[in-house]
Amino acid sequence: MTTTPQHCQAQDAQDPLRPLRDLFLIPPGTLYLDGNSLGVMPRSAPARVADVVTREWGADLIQSWNKNGWFHMPGKVGDKIARLIGAAPGTVVATDSTSVNLFKVLSAALNLATADKPRRKRVVSERSNFPTDLYIAEALCKERGFELVLVEPEEIAAALTPDVAVLMLTHVNYRTGAMHDMSAVTAAAHAAGALMLWDLAHSAGAVPVDLTGANADYAVGCGYKYLNGGPGAPAFVWVNPRHADRFWQPLAGWWGHATPFDFTPDYQPAAGITRYQCGTQPMISLAALECGVDTVLAAEEHGGMAALRRKSLALTDLFIELVNARCPGHGLGLATPLDHAQRGSQVCLTKDEGAYAIVQALIARGVVGDFRAGDGQRHKDILRFGFTPLYIGFEDVWNAVEHLRQVLESGEWQRPEFNNRHAVT
Ligand SMILES: *Cc1c(COP(=O)(O)O)cnc(C)c1O
Repeated sequence: MTTTPQHCQAQDAQDPLRPLRDLFLIPPGTLYLDGNSLGVMPRSAPARVADVVTREWGADLIQSWNKNGWFHMPGKVGDKIARLIGAAPGTVVATDSTSVNLFKVLSAALNLATADKPRRKRVVSERSNFPTDLYIAEALCKERGFELVLVEPEEIAAALTPDVAVLMLTHVNYRTGAMHDMSAVTAAAHAAGALMLWDLAHSAGAVPVDLTGANADYAVGCGYKYLNGGPGAPAFVWVNPRHADRFWQPLAGWWGHATPFDFTPDYQPAAGITRYQCGTQPMISLAALECGVDTVLAAEEHGGMAALRRKSLALTDLFIELVNARCPGHGLGLATPLDHAQRGSQVCLTKDEGAYAIVQALIARGVVGDFRAGDGQRHKDILRFGFTPLYIGFEDVWNAVEHLRQVLESGEWQRPEFNNRHAVT
């Protein structure tokens, strides 16, 4: 029997995570299924940002570096993120962008991988990895004389030849929501003598992650997606403590110096993860990011990441069930794995024709997902729906599918206004 709206309401009523929705300012009339791209604003953010601007900057000015803890913000917020990704305190900093952090760790990884084994000249990644990761790797490989090898997920094991320096993967695929087995893949990389670098952009705050347990080497991740840190929020970087002191990262700015306020002309890297900082950090953005991370940590009193994961899987299961039951005959396919162990916190539907317009028609109804173009070959056009269990409920899922059903049945997506491509999809 198909789930009814009444079932969904009952599930919301019993949901121990339901109170966490009140931590967010969800615009009235909006059903927001795009927290995988830009998380909803925490209610605490406007006052906190205003306080940083008016009191810390406006009144305390330069004293804020000490008095208001500005100098230690990257490590303070990093320690909070560490709790969500299985990292020890003092091993994560919130800083720079994901792209820039990836450049830093991949460069350090190439140094480390070739220190004793100079013949290792390859970096392996997935062809459908997020493009910025591939661009950064391509540029770095070019500059450093490495070869970037791109493969499909099922080809990764065979690609781990003895000349591979680093395996660089995104844990949860941004297009399909497919999730790698972090422990198994890391072990396979290590067995081949390669280092393992994970991008947690679609994992941090979305699925349980245990970098320490998986014995990974390097990780980066994003602050503005499931961590709700706001547009362009600082990203984060983690380095396994056994590697952190072994090499400089290439952007050796003064915030990564052991004693920046000695103003010495030569660079002495700080111990540990601090050396992965570069220059002066954005305090207003870090304050907003801390508000976002705090919303995820608030779940710790309600079962934590395990409870968030349970609910996320229940939400994505329900969405898949209802799309199958209520939207048949429109050529929708499923790009997201059914197996829970292989699924992140999003569901991606495929459609040969009209995927972009359907997403636009849904947005006009207040149901906000997004569209990702296919490649005309292996990957079809995708309608992408992110389910952030902090603020999405079961009735929301029912309503979203009902809107999708109406958009498909009425053919309203075929209207010209839904078929104009915007710059940001
Ligand atoms: C979102 C995302 C990024 C974003 O990188 P920026 O430097 O913040 O633009 C990078 N990698 C992956 C896998 C992502 O999903």
